Amino acid sequence: MTTNRTFTMIKPDAVAEGHTGAITKMIEEAGFRIVAIKKTLLTPERAGEFYAVHSERPFYNDLRNYMSSGAIVPMILEKENAVADFRTLIGATNPAQAADGTIRKLFAKSIEANAIHGSDSDENAQIEGSFFFAGTEQF
Ligand code: ADP
Ligand code: MG
Repeated sequence: MTTNRTFTMIKPDAVAEGHTGAITKMIEEAGFRIVAIKKTLLTPERAGEFYAVHSERPFYNDLRNYMSSGAIVPMILEKENAVADFRTLIGATNPAQAADGTIRKLFAKSIEANAIHGSDSDENAQIEGSFFFAGTEQF
């Protein structure tokens, strides 16, 4: 298995409630190396751009508003099998279905306000990482 990268962001609900430290600790303890990290804010327009793949879904407008409602903490992470292992660490989209011990089980409030994002493919990890970080911000 080769070392590769994934992209994540701690979502506004989890940042506002002060879970950034606990979530980042879980990520590092699971063996991910933080390649890039910052705290920032999305406008509704940029949130819509990030989630453009969902533009036809009924929850799209709510999702744009939610994702621009407060600060987020985007990160690029590195580990063997990063994309799949990170999806396992965060758990199912709906926290009611997330496995015990996953980040969403511990910190998500609802299917929308579900604490954290994780890329679903190597290709999307690359696209999403570049959406937030220049090459010079990745170490
Ligand atoms: P994931 O983040 O697990 O990859 P999706 O890509 O399907 O999930 O959806 C993107 C985000 O949109 C979810 O993380 C969640 O914040 C929101 N979302 C997904 N499904 C719903 C839904 N049925 N109602 C409200 N929000 C949703
Ligand atoms: Mg997704």
